[in-house]
Order: sequence, then structure tokens, then C-alpha cells
Amino acid sequence: MIAAGPVRVRVSVTRSLAAALLFWAMLMGAAADSSAAHAFDSDEHVSVVPAGTCRFTAGGFESEKTLIVGNLLTGTGGAQYGAVLVSGGRIVELVPDDGIESAAGNAVVFDCGRNYVSPGLINPHEHTRYSFQMLTAGDREALPVYAHRDEWIPESGFGDGSDKIRYKDGTDDAKTLFWIELRHLLAGTTLIAGSGAVRGLAKNAGSRQRPQYEYPADIRTFPFGPEAMRRIRRLRSFPDPGTEAFRPELTEDLPARAPYVPHVAEGTDLAARLEGLFFLDYVATRKSDRRFSLIHGVGLDSGDIGRLGDLDVTLIWSPRSNVALYGETADIPALIRENVRMAIGTDWSVSGSYNMLEELRCAAELFGRGSGSPVLSSADLWQMATGNGAYALGLEAVTGKLEAGLAADIMVFRKQSGDPFDDLLRATAQEVLATFVDGRLRSGNRAGFSGALPEDCRYTVGTHFVCAELPDAARGLPFGFEEVLQANRKEDIVPLYREDRQPFPNQAECALRTRASPQP
Ligand SMILES: [Zn+2]
Repeated sequence: MIAAGPVRVRVSVTRSLAAALLFWAMLMGAAADSSAAHAFDSDEHVSVVPAGTCRFTAGGFESEKTLIVGNLLTGTGGAQYGAVLVSGGRIVELVPDDGIESAAGNAVVFDCGRNYVSPGLINPHEHTRYSFQMLTAGDREALPVYAHRDEWIPESGFGDGSDKIRYKDGTDDAKTLFWIELRHLLAGTTLIAGSGAVRGLAKNAGSRQRPQYEYPADIRTFPFGPEAMRRIRRLRSFPDPGTEAFRPELTEDLPARAPYVPHVAEGTDLAARLEGLFFLDYVATRKSDRRFSLIHGVGLDSGDIGRLGDLDVTLIWSPRSNVALYGETADIPALIRENVRMAIGTDWSVSGSYNMLEELRCAAELFGRGSGSPVLSSADLWQMATGNGAYALGLEAVTGKLEAGLAADIMVFRKQSGDPFDDLLRATAQEVLATFVDGRLRSGNRAGFSGALPEDCRYTVGTHFVCAELPDAARGLPFGFEEVLQANRKEDIVPLYREDRQPFPNQAECALRTRASPQP
């Protein structure tokens, strides 16, 4: 074996002469006068890395550690300069400013200067298999304001069919699934829940028993089934408890320890509200079994919302899709008042956002800094998109926070102002400098790195890079990265990101709408 010390120097010099020299000059400076350690201002440290960028330094041959340096987001209070020390894919410790030099040792170092180091974004509501297709801006504008999702879903058997949305069926094409996930990864998402997954990009949670899904989650789009929905639709009020009245069954397919995450109350009519009430009664009898969350909840009224808080049900909010389809969204002021935990997800590309950054901006337009009377701070939205998303999926002890013992699922985004949370809401994929999954760099912005990249980051798309193992023949999915890009270049297909750095065109549509005619 080779001794770690000298090897470290040699490797560093080979990899990045300038970085190594500066780094060692820094260490020597600190060592020469240890009494002046506190005078070693961290701003001086940042001068090693040009503003708005990260610098990668390869570790020693025996190194199993990675250090990610930057302004750490550990809570809604703001950022603190320090580093995340990673080993075996997990966060070992959060290193304070004055411990960075010694923690670096022979570790792989990503020095991101003053840029923000955040838990990766968690998207607990995506229909990956469907999220290749897009409506034109005109088609989106022409959407009627529906009262219930059964009005627009072709297979619901409800209505005369004139107002149905014509969308294509979900895809199982691996190349397409690959770029759909890549689109989320480039925008800082490290975990996606929903149908459709590929290995080696973001992590996935879902109900299908396949190796692509790291985490089990019973994500149900139609928890009640068509027959129960027909009966719910005939009710004029919620049946009195204790009567012989109908109680719809909810479908489940995973063992009770998996979180149950159904679409409920997706609409504004009575049927939507009754779905919500039936679901809450169901949770009340099963609460001890498992984690329960609820996607949408548009039809819940403020009284129902109090029960969500009592039963510890996380509401997974998809504002973009809600206002596009129903003109309204969940009662956010009531959810805040009742102290209900909220997460946020993109839904699907047909009516929702194309990535989490887009969805966060949409949320801020409706109830945050972009609205007339903000009730959600930018920090609240960050919490919803990180730790609360993990909680919604029963994964709060696994990911979603910068905390020792949790997975090193991390996004680094560019510092533009003194407020990290406002900067997140300004960010497009261009500002996402790096996305790490289990401590491994998976993608980022080439322009955001001032030196070399790790060797496996060999794929590029525009200014972005991707460090992935493409599915190989041994796994039955042979294709090259160029084929992935080709699959994304078709017409009416959601792009990976906007070349011009503008938000996707749907952002301006994040506003409440009124239903044109009274509901039948
Ligand atoms: Zn959905």
C-alpha cells in the first residue's frame, strides 16, 4: 500500500496544480501561526474558488471520504459556512468553518465557496412515465376549469367526453424515462416518487417491486376505484357515522409499513370533498399502521384540514397543476393555521411543472413572495421541498436534511444574494452547480466548476454535465447518451432545461382562475 500523505500531494498536483498549491499554501499558513487561526477569515478561503463556482480536488488513493464545502442550509434559519463530510454515501458530520482544513485530509473535496449547499429537492408527486409530453401554451390557456378530475380523465367514464384532455399513455421506454429523470436531476432533485424510474440518476420511491425503486411507497392515483367513485358521486352529504351507510374501500398493494400516498380530493365539487372525508376516516382507524400522506386535497374545507393536522397526514401540494385544471388549489392559509405539514410536488408535465424549481416559483406566485399577501416564506417553501417531502414518504430518517447519519443527497446552487431561500426561488437549472446522490456527484453545470471534473462526469448536454452509468447490455437496456438526447429532441416533448435560462413558459400561468359556467 502507498502511504496516504505523499500520494495526496502527487495526485492533487496532477489533477489540479493551482488548487493544490493554493490549498497547501492555506494549510501551511494556518499551521505556521496557529494562534492566528481565527484571523484566518473564511472569506479568504473563498478566494481559492471564483464566485459562483465550485472546485473539485481528487482525493488520495485510499480516500473514502468526500468533503463538500459551502454555505450549509441546515434549517429555515439561514446558511452557515462549513462543510459536509461524507463517507459510504452518508453524512458523517457537519464540519464548522474552522474545522474544514483538518477535515479535508486526503478526502475528495468539492469546494463550492459561498454557494449554497442544500439537501437535494424531494419530489413526492410525479408521474414520470407520463412526463415527457407537454401542452402548448395555447392548449393550456384553453383548458376549461374543471370541478373534478373525472371530468378530464378519458377513462373515468364520467361526462360526455367533450372536455377530456387528450394525452398519450405512459411510456416504458428507458431512454425517455432516463431524460425525464435527468430533467429533474439537473434542477436539483435527488428523490422522485411516482411511477417510472431508472437507476443511477435520482433515487426513486414507488409501489412496483422493481430494483429501480429504492424505497417502497404506495402511491395511488385512483385509491377508490371506479365503482366506489360512482357511489360517492351519488351521495348528497357525508353519511352519518354509525349508520349502515356505504364506506368505500381504499386499494392498497404494499405492506403496511410502506407509506400510503393517494390522490384524494382532486377537485372542487362535493365528490372531491367526500373523498377527503372518507380518506380521513380511514386514516383515523389505521393511523398506527403506517405513514399517511395526501396528494392534492383541493376539495377539503377548512374544517377537514384541521383533521389532517390531528392525524399527522402530510399534504402534498401541486399548485401548478391544480390551478391549470381546477382554477383553485388547496386552502394554504387554513393548512398553515392548522399546522399541517406540507410537501410540494410537480404532478405531471401535462398540467404541472417540469421541475421542482418551477413548482416552487409557482407556489411563491400564489402564496409566497410573488403574491400580494404572502403567507409562505421562501424558507417555508424550501422546507416543503426537502425535509417535508422526505417525511411525506416516511423517509425522514433517511434523507431530506443535512444531518449526520442521513444519505448525502445534496444540491449546490449559486449564491446570488444574502438570502439562500430567495435565491432558490430565482434559480433555474443553470444555477444548480451540482447534484449529489449518496455522496456521488451525478450532474451539474460545467460553467459552475472552475477546474477539472471527476472522471466519470463524461457526458455533456449544453453547459451541463452528467456523471452516470448508462444502462448496459448486461442489464438489457443498451443505449448511449446521444440516444438519450435524441429521444429528447422530438417535437412537443418537454426539454431538459431552457437554453436561454428563462423559466419554462408555464410560470406565468400560476394564478387562480374562475369557472366559466356553473357546475352541472
Ligand atoms: Zn398526480
